Amino acid sequence: MNIQVKQAEVDQLLNTSVLTTTAEKYIGWGRKHSLWPLPFGTACCGIEFMSVVGPKYDLARFGAEAVRFSPRQSDLLIVAGTITEKMGPVLKLIYDQMLEPKWVLSMGACASSGGFYRAYHVMQGADKIIPVDVYVPGCPPTPEAVIDGILRIQEIIQQGRKRAPTPLK
Ligand code: SF4
Repeated sequence: MNIQVKQAEVDQLLNTSVLTTTAEKYIGWGRKHSLWPLPFGTACCGIEFMSVVGPKYDLARFGAEAVRFSPRQSDLLIVAGTITEKMGPVLKLIYDQMLEPKWVLSMGACASSGGFYRAYHVMQGADKIIPVDVYVPGCPPTPEAVIDGILRIQEIIQQGRKRAPTPLK
């Protein structure tokens, strides 16, 4: 009887999602500590981002310092700066070229809402053309705020949350 119970427990362990959940937990843990960001810097926020990866704030502490300028090597797109209507399609192309899973952080007022540029040639937020996971406010955001945004991205990765679908344009 006792053996039967134990066998039932083993079967349950193998057949239920316990193993899957455990594997996902470790995969999420690995992913969140090995982010490869691609900074799409178009204006002053791009310069601000440089201080985040510099020695003072040291993004390496969170495993996200391996900055790449190729969408094929990156999994975190950091939109840092004003997105003009002309640059919108370029941003979309770069996003599309990144492999799944991928995440997007909108850094600063311009990338999140167009900022103070209420003008015909400026896109009123990167989310008009690509999905955004986390918005970091500020003009410019402080390095601490950007790091907080990256920590929130890491929470999303760990929880395995799904992103909103890509907007049509
Ligand atoms: S949010 Fe401010 S600092 Fe960032 S790109 Fe716009 S104007 Fe420059």
